[in-house]
Amino acid sequence: MERLAVNGGKPVRDGMLPYGHQWIDDEDIAAVVRSLKGDLITQGPDIEEFERIVAEYCGARYAVAVCNGTAALHAACAVAGVAAGDEVITSPITFAASANAVVYCGGKPVLADIREDSINIDPDEIVKKLTPQTRALIPVDFGGNPCDLDRIMDIARDRKITVIEDAAHALGAEYKGRKIGSIADMTVLSFHPVKHITTGEGGMILTDNARYYEKLKVFHHHGIVRKPENGQWYYEIDEPGHNFRITSFQCALGMSQMKRLDGFIQRRREIVKKYDEAFSATGEIITPVESEFCRATYHLYVIQLVQELLKAGRKQIFDALRAENIGVNVHYVPVHMHPFYRKKFGYKPGDYPVAERYYDRAITLPLFPRMSDQDVADVIKAVNKVVEAYRK
Ligand SMILES: *Cc1c(COP(=O)(O)O)cnc(C)c1O
Repeated sequence: MERLAVNGGKPVRDGMLPYGHQWIDDEDIAAVVRSLKGDLITQGPDIEEFERIVAEYCGARYAVAVCNGTAALHAACAVAGVAAGDEVITSPITFAASANAVVYCGGKPVLADIREDSINIDPDEIVKKLTPQTRALIPVDFGGNPCDLDRIMDIARDRKITVIEDAAHALGAEYKGRKIGSIADMTVLSFHPVKHITTGEGGMILTDNARYYEKLKVFHHHGIVRKPENGQWYYEIDEPGHNFRITSFQCALGMSQMKRLDGFIQRRREIVKKYDEAFSATGEIITPVESEFCRATYHLYVIQLVQELLKAGRKQIFDALRAENIGVNVHYVPVHMHPFYRKKFGYKPGDYPVAERYYDRAITLPLFPRMSDQDVADVIKAVNKVVEAYRK
């Protein structure tokens, strides 16, 4: 058996392979430079053009681009009317921003446990958490695998609850043949460098609802409502909004990236197939699932360790993989474990057993379109090497 790097052996590769990474090419750079040479570097025409391209791709009527995905979630909660006294149900296994956005609006994030197979919020658990105060649901398409959207939309529709889908992982994904972005009342995207396309920082809200759209335009631009009948300069603030604007040159980058989105997704799925094939016979590892009727776009590839078959815990295996120069990660520390959520809302370990069990066993392997076949082979080799060393 080969000596593990963590025990002084030779690492599988030189140089750390990150878990996610952007792919910027010369055309992207040229697009940004072109935009920077224009008259308006913020609020220029590239913004509307980018919004139009993403909305069309996702099958949504309207889109509002903003400065990041967190601002997009915040804006969506605000225009859905989330305010003090309201409850919003989301998943414990998500980036904290999904819950933080509710807090920004004065609301209470209520968590509903996940399904063991998809790692997505369990609709049966949502139903248990409904109260007359429930104002919105924020399902998160974990890792790019869509939630059970028909059921979630049904739960919400009967009760006039707004569904804000956190699709930060799921640009391009499909549910029953429909593109993500065309189903929920509002769908939120992120263009952080590790996501499917990047604008550096950036985010977007997609909707078919004209009223939400108009409110989003106002909210992300200070709350400014123009009243030209009172003079060209004149505007009013009915309700203070935020400056959540994105810049024109970021949208130029986004548009250029959109041209390669389908290729990016294809490459991600190719790598996933290689991982699935490599690990399908490894009893110590559970590989991610693609839900029925869904086409996932795999922002993340999370393996779960079957602890009963291993001599080492998750932390030890994580450290061993890092020592092999595989930039593994963990997604995510459950929302209810964060000190703020414990103190403010009284959550405690044990509240969400399925989420916690998942969290204790999860390791995210590197996955991004620019990975070479050699990178993929290195990951597979390192995982096999480490599992072999710690096999019971
Ligand atoms: C990335 C991400 C966000 C936030 O997006 P930013 O652009 O980083 O602000 C929100 N939710 C989830 C699930 C994410 O992965």
